[in-house]
Formats: sequence, structure tokens, C-alpha cells
Amino acid sequence: MSHLLSLQKLMGYGGDPDKMGGNPVIGLLGGGQLGRMLCEAANPLGIDIAILDDKNAPAKQAHNTNRHVTGSFKDPAKIRELAARSDYLSVEIEHVDTDVLEDIEKNGVEVDLADGSTVTHRPPIHPSWKTIRLIQDKYLQKEHFRSSEKAIPIADQLAIESGDAALASLKDAADQFGFPFMLKARKGSYDGRGNFKVCSAKEFAPAIKALGNLTLYAEKWAPFVKELAVMVIRTEDDDGKLRSCVAYPAVETIHEDSVCTKVFMPPRNISDAVCEKARELACSVISTLWGRGVFAVELFVLEDDSLVVNEVAPRPHNSGHYTIEAVPYMSQYKAQIHAVLDLPIPEKLTPRVPASIMLNILGGVTTSSHHKLARLARSTFSEHMDVYLHLYGKESKPGRKIGHITLTGYSSIEELEKLAEPFVELVDKMRL
Ligand code: ATP
Ligand code: MG
Ligand code: MG
Repeated sequence: MSHLLSLQKLMGYGGDPDKMGGNPVIGLLGGGQLGRMLCEAANPLGIDIAILDDKNAPAKQAHNTNRHVTGSFKDPAKIRELAARSDYLSVEIEHVDTDVLEDIEKNGVEVDLADGSTVTHRPPIHPSWKTIRLIQDKYLQKEHFRSSEKAIPIADQLAIESGDAALASLKDAADQFGFPFMLKARKGSYDGRGNFKVCSAKEFAPAIKALGNLTLYAEKWAPFVKELAVMVIRTEDDDGKLRSCVAYPAVETIHEDSVCTKVFMPPRNISDAVCEKARELACSVISTLWGRGVFAVELFVLEDDSLVVNEVAPRPHNSGHYTIEAVPYMSQYKAQIHAVLDLPIPEKLTPRVPASIMLNILGGVTTSSHHKLARLARSTFSEHMDVYLHLYGKESKPGRKIGHITLTGYSSIEELEKLAEPFVELVDKMRL
């Protein structure tokens, strides 16, 4: 194995920024839009990001370096190759091979130097492979939260048997939870792709047909009045001792067909007290995990204002895109870099604007469906609202997240909503 080695490695660098000879390199497993925005935050910080993903992945388009690796973030050999080129490892997606990350942390990777000698290199991994492994399995993730010291509220859940026993297991779930209930894939799902709302016994067979080849669990229906999300920055010492959890404000997320389409900051028609409670709960949730980085906590607000944790993402998240413009001194992407490298994190995260709305651009029926919306974003100027268009350099396919627009306002969320109407109308039309 022969690599272009970073200067730090040649100097025997072991992860301490003070010992660095050059710019630190973060190796990132996955190079989609989250990786792309991480690169955009890294560029002005003089941080190099080495991406492991396909050749023309969105993140690679935004950051030019000879350290990128072409291949899959599930391929152990490629992950080792990335580790050998990086001072730190992190992820933009949780569906990665954690066995190899565990092995890299424990045993390191062998790197051949130009003089023929070999060194063992151990890039710190943040968040920890332990966190990533736990979160990969949504059922185990929530069992962990429920049984933690903090007794975190989650929806009741039941593991579903596989194969011939699945039907009886679904009947048990219906007896326990009533209808409707949510049948979910334990692993690998995103944008609701592993979810099936089971409304009656008639839907057992179609549910098994749709998801039956996956490992499943059933979740009690949460009759929520609103969905919130809270991004949390977690820091810890190098020996794994929790140092701090700092939360961004709670935001309101709107999901249509289980896909996030809109994010409102601050949330509409909800008390500040509930938003504060959400922030505190999110910090409790993230304090039970391991490693440094930003995390998203998705929450349901029930009729009586109580909160239920839906799931956690161990990385920057769609609900935190707004921070690029609304919290410019520490966007979620900059925070991810600061946390991984153990650079300073603010004690409080207060947005610079009173309101923002994020609208996802999902691919429409044709590859040019979103062009009208992009034109509107480019041509809108207002004293009362700023418009920021992000396109991810992805091929447009129906329902695929290909970009987003953030609108920031200078008075209330209600005022901004009025100004945002033409955008919302076009975004909604594209989904039809
Ligand atoms: P993501 O892209 O956020 O990772 P995912 O595929 O992991 O999505 P979930 O977060 O489990 O999916 O669910 C997607 C959406 O489906 C939720 O945001 C919520 O709107 C709805 N949902 C999920 N679980 C429940 C539930 N138990 N009761 C009611 N609605 C639910
Ligand atoms: Mg999820
Ligand atoms: Mg979710």
C-alpha cells in the first residue's frame, strides 16, 4: 500500500492539533449533500476533507484534493485506504461498516512510508463507531434511550419475527398497540423508505410484502401535533469523558410521505417552554452516546405538550441546514469540524436572525421541474427576506433531495411565512 501521506503523518502526528505540521485532514465516509456542505464549511477553515464515495459525488465537486478515495463507504478496504490518508475519520451517513472502524480504532492501519518503513496510524474516529453501530439499528437505539439512566420517552416498540413467524408477530403488535401502528425496518432506512403504516389486519400481507425481507420492528403510533428537531453538539475529552452538549434552537419539521420537506425556525404555534424542554431532552439523549460531533434528535410533540423521541442521526442533518445562514458563526457543518478536531464550541447557540424557513427541493416529474424554483430564488431581492439557493450537483430523480432553499427574515416567522408564499407554492407544486 503506497499513499501520498499527509505532512502530519510523516512527522508522527497522532491527532493533537498543536503537533500539526500542515492542514488537518478529515476523512469522510460518504460524499452526498451533507458532505458537500461540510466541505463548503471546511474550505475557509483551511481544513482538508478526503471523501470516500463515487467519483463524481456531490462533496467531491465542492472540494478538490488528491486525497479523495473512489469506492463504497461500506467497503472495508476502501475505509482503510481513507484512514491511511486522514488525521481524523468521520461520517456523513450512518449506514457504514462499523466493524472496520472498530478495528481501525483498536489496531490502526499500516502505512508504508517512502523510505520503505511502515508505521501504524490511528486516526481518531468521531462520532465513535459504538454510537454509529447503535444508531444503525433503530430498535436497539431506542431501547438504549429508554433503558438509560435518563429514562428517555420513546414510542412503545416490539421486535418483529422474520419469515413465517412475521404474521403472528404483527398480530401481537396490533394487540399491543392497536391500529394504526408503524412497521419499520430496523436498519438502512432513510426518508421513510423503510416505513409502512399498518392501518388494519388487511394490511399485514402488503406490509410483509413491502418490507418482509428486512429485519423489522413495530412502533406504536404517535398521534403528534407537531414534529420538532434539535441539533446538538457533543464534545468529550480524548479519554471519552463527556464534556458538553450544546443545543441549537428547536425547529419545526414538516414531513410529507415521511420525507422532510420544510423546516421552520422558530417552530410555529408552540410555546417557548416546550421548545426549551425539547432542547433539554435532546441534550439528555445525546449525553448517553459516545464521541464528538453534531447529532440530530427528532421529536414528536403530543397533544398534552409531552415529548417523544423519534430517532437520532449521528451527523449533520436536513433540519440543521438553516444554520448555514441563520447561525453563520457556527453552522452545523462548522460545528461538526470543530467538534471532530476538538476546537472551541460556543456555550450558547443563538441565531443571528429571528426567523428562517428551509424548503427542500425534491426532484419533480422531469429533470427540469425545479428550474422555475431556482430562477425564482436567483431573482428575488427583498429588504425583509434573504434567499439562499443550494443545489447539490445531483441528477434529478422524482422525490430525490437535489437541493434546498433557506429564507431568512428580520421580523417574525409569521411575517416570513407570508413572504415565502411564492416559494412554498412552487415547492408544493413540484411534488404533484
Ligand atoms: P429519516 O430520513 O429522518 O432518517 P426514516 O426513514 O428514519 O427518516 P422515521 O424518522 O422513522 O423515518 O419516520 C419518518 C416520518 O414518519 C416521521 O418524521 C414521522 O412523520 C412519521 N412517523 C414515524 N414514526 C411514527 C410513529 N410512531 N407515529 C406516527 N408517525 C410516525
Ligand atoms: Mg432515520
Ligand atoms: Mg427520521
